Amino acid sequence: MQGKCAVCGKEGEVFVASSACGAMSNAYCEECLASGAEPWNDLVFYVSLAGHYPDQINEMYREIVRDTCKRLHKTEEEFSAAVEEEINKIDDICDMVSQIGCTSFPISDMQTNSMLPL
Ligand SMILES: [Zn+2]
Repeated sequence: MQGKCAVCGKEGEVFVASSACGAMSNAYCEECLASGAEPWNDLVFYVSLAGHYPDQINEMYREIVRDTCKRLHKTEEEFSAAVEEEINKIDDICDMVSQIGCTSFPISDMQTNSMLPL
C-alpha cells in the first residue's frame, strides 16, 4: 500500500500495524516497522500519561523510546524534555477544568500503571 510513514514521514510503500501507544494503528515504512519506532508525538503523549521519562517508565517502553530516538536521530534527553512539556500541558488543562467548576483530577490520578517499572 502506498502512503506516508507516520514515524519518519517518508512517502512510499507503507504497512499498517497496531501501535504500541494504545488502541490505534499507523502506517509504517518498512525501515520504521523493522526498527520498532513509533510516531514521536504519539509516544510523547502516551508516555506522559504514565509518568516522567525515564524514571517512571518500564524497560519495555524505554526500549521503544530508544528505537524511536535512534530512527529519528533524536536523543533521549529531547524525548524526556518533550514528555515534561506534555505533562505541564496536561496539568494546565486539568487546572483549567477545575477552575470552571468541574471536579479536580490531577494527572497522577489519570496516569496508568501499565508502564511503571515492575
Ligand atoms: Zn518510516
